[in-house]
Amino acid sequence: MATFQFRTVPHIHAGSGSATELSGIAAPLLAGVERVALVTDQGVRKAGLINAPLDELKAAGLSVLVLDEVIADPPEDMVLAATARAREFGAQLVIGIGGGSSLDTAKLVALLLGSDQPLSEMYGVNKVRGQRLPLILIPTTAGTGSEVTPISVVTVGETTKMGVNDPTLYADLAVLDAALTIGLPRHVTAATGIDAMVHAIEAYTSAIEKNPVSDALALAGLKKLHGSIERACLDGSDMSAREDMLLGALLAGQAFANAPVGAVHALAYPLGGIFHGPHGLSHSLQLPPLVGLHAPAAEALYTQLAAHLDLAGASTEALVDEMERIAEVVGIETRLSQVGVSHNDLPKMAEDAMKVERLLKNNPRPMTLEAAHACYESVL
Ligand SMILES: [Zn+2]
Repeated sequence: MATFQFRTVPHIHAGSGSATELSGIAAPLLAGVERVALVTDQGVRKAGLINAPLDELKAAGLSVLVLDEVIADPPEDMVLAATARAREFGAQLVIGIGGGSSLDTAKLVALLLGSDQPLSEMYGVNKVRGQRLPLILIPTTAGTGSEVTPISVVTVGETTKMGVNDPTLYADLAVLDAALTIGLPRHVTAATGIDAMVHAIEAYTSAIEKNPVSDALALAGLKKLHGSIERACLDGSDMSAREDMLLGALLAGQAFANAPVGAVHALAYPLGGIFHGPHGLSHSLQLPPLVGLHAPAAEALYTQLAAHLDLAGASTEALVDEMERIAEVVGIETRLSQVGVSHNDLPKMAEDAMKVERLLKNNPRPMTLEAAHACYESVL
């Protein structure tokens, strides 16, 4: 057997309503803790999703500081300001409830509270020194898989996306409660669900660290998501579809936490950084040209994915066609021009994408500036 390693979050608790039983589920982590920082965003707060967990934690005797200032593509300044408030409060444990931005922020707040290393020195892979505070993550979207990844992505300055990727960021506990995802609007369900499907596809074709465990998770995750994304989008209250989406996103997250994603995410970065387009939407746009670009090196893997989904023809083309069909059914944009990108933006976007070396090195085929430009051009 080839040598490999696999890591994940040590404790996963899944079940509808779990978020309302947090003090029991997290009892070992909460022992001796009096002050908790709860990181979220205003959309999640206004939707009432933190009410039950908050009431329950308070009833268990905990003081809770709600930090609801998270915004999409979390800016570094916001992360630092939230950390300062949590520090002043004397937080001993951090809980993140929300989409990827809230969970990524919660991870960094827990890390910055536990370590005196400046955030600016943590960017990159395995750069973290020191410890973090105990950390519980509860996703309210089925997409990023952030609850089981060791990665936080923030925006530095105006548009530069920087990532902290370190095993210290694996949470102590991830809680999956599909009831929290019932009210998600269709467009968010679609964009985040496609993001998760891309995680599975890119993990399965990742060039360097894919392994038998990440492969099994990528296949299982993709199958769950494929079987539920249309149902969840067409009927948002379909609980079994919501459960499958949440589980599929978690499985895909465990896969790409170990077998990192590649060019689809690298080319999506400039879209998020410059246009603040939803992360999953940018993936939907980039997947078809990139699969085409990688196919000479990854044909067998794409074929295996298509066969696993029982697609007629079981080929790279069948996989791309199916992803395009799903994008259409769930009603997601399929051209860059639909999200405000013009021809003049492409050179800068291609240049920015080429800077994301930590992802590009995972590609089945090497990426070039010309190829990146051509990928954008083909879906303009
Ligand atoms: Zn993603």
